[in-house]
Amino acid sequence: MSPLSFPQADATRRATDDERAAILAAPGFGQHFADFMAHARWNAEGGWGGDELVPYGPLSLDPATAVFHYAQEIFEGLKAFRHEDGSVWTFRPEKNAERMQASARRLALPELPTEDFLASLRTVTAADEPWVPAVDPSAEHSLYLRPFMFASESFLGVRASHTVDYYVIASPAGDYFPRGVEPLVVWISDTYARAGAGGTGAAKCGGNYASSLLGKKEAAEHGADEVLFLDSETHTRIDELSGMNVFAITADGRIVTPELSGSILPGVTRDSILQLAADRGLAPAEERLDMSSVLDQVTSGDIVEMFACGTAAVITPIGEFRSKDGSWPVGGGGSGEHTLALRKELTDIQYGRAEDRHGWLTRLV
Ligand SMILES: *Cc1c(COP(=O)(O)O)cnc(C)c1O
Repeated sequence: MSPLSFPQADATRRATDDERAAILAAPGFGQHFADFMAHARWNAEGGWGGDELVPYGPLSLDPATAVFHYAQEIFEGLKAFRHEDGSVWTFRPEKNAERMQASARRLALPELPTEDFLASLRTVTAADEPWVPAVDPSAEHSLYLRPFMFASESFLGVRASHTVDYYVIASPAGDYFPRGVEPLVVWISDTYARAGAGGTGAAKCGGNYASSLLGKKEAAEHGADEVLFLDSETHTRIDELSGMNVFAITADGRIVTPELSGSILPGVTRDSILQLAADRGLAPAEERLDMSSVLDQVTSGDIVEMFACGTAAVITPIGEFRSKDGSWPVGGGGSGEHTLALRKELTDIQYGRAEDRHGWLTRLV
């Protein structure tokens, strides 16, 4: 099968230059969408084809479309960064391609080859290049890329869909923390879990987010920003937040994150931080993190910093844990020295301000 090239069918832009400039002045996150989207369709007989680049717009779907009923859907998230010379780059996209293939296997969806995934990112970013925010060293603006794939066959039987649609949409993203990095208050849920053994926790699928929303609501009712889920069997081990991985840094220079248990999403940011931390002389470890032991070490001062990480917010300090049993401030209330240094180094690499010594950047435009 020949690789997909996503030829442009219609080059009409949705927004005028003035409309785009007004949005890029304050893009927010996930609220505005760029002019074009990439699309391809898979069917059981012919595999992938029908690739095209089309104006962003609503999809018309039959009410019996399988995804609405049985949630056979996966997605990815990555960013395009403008560099000083005007070029546009993304960060470790082959990791996202491989993760989407792993998610597809778990959700009984077809795998999209890495070269086709990369071609879809390149095509959308080239067409939507005016939407990639200009260089601004005091801001963290980017073009967020959202590839996703869903069961598009119309039928109500429970089986893997014979038709699947893949899209990439793009959305300009502004500063996640407009007032500077703000530590999170994290609610420890002992009621809900986001994923269980043998389930879909390691796949990036919408269903995991649907099951996290009530926990997030419970967190908000307790004045917390985010919810921390524990393992579903014993409710004693740290799993992750609804969409971010968790790290702890100890006073003796260890940096620890929960091991990939099968219910934890293998974050690209998580993997990159393990490497950057080792480069800085911290001792990285992936192991089981017992919640009550972590809270004891937070109280004793053996754990000095904690943070959550993911593509959207990069690294977010955890300032306090809360549960029905009490509250635990972390370190001096968050924004520890290593946390901020790792955050700066990672974003400096992404924006081309620091040497890309691990070869993590891929040029898109
Ligand atoms: C996407 C995601 C993350 C973060 O992954 P990155 O590749 O670092 O963006 C963490 N947890 C969950 C559940 C996710 O869906």
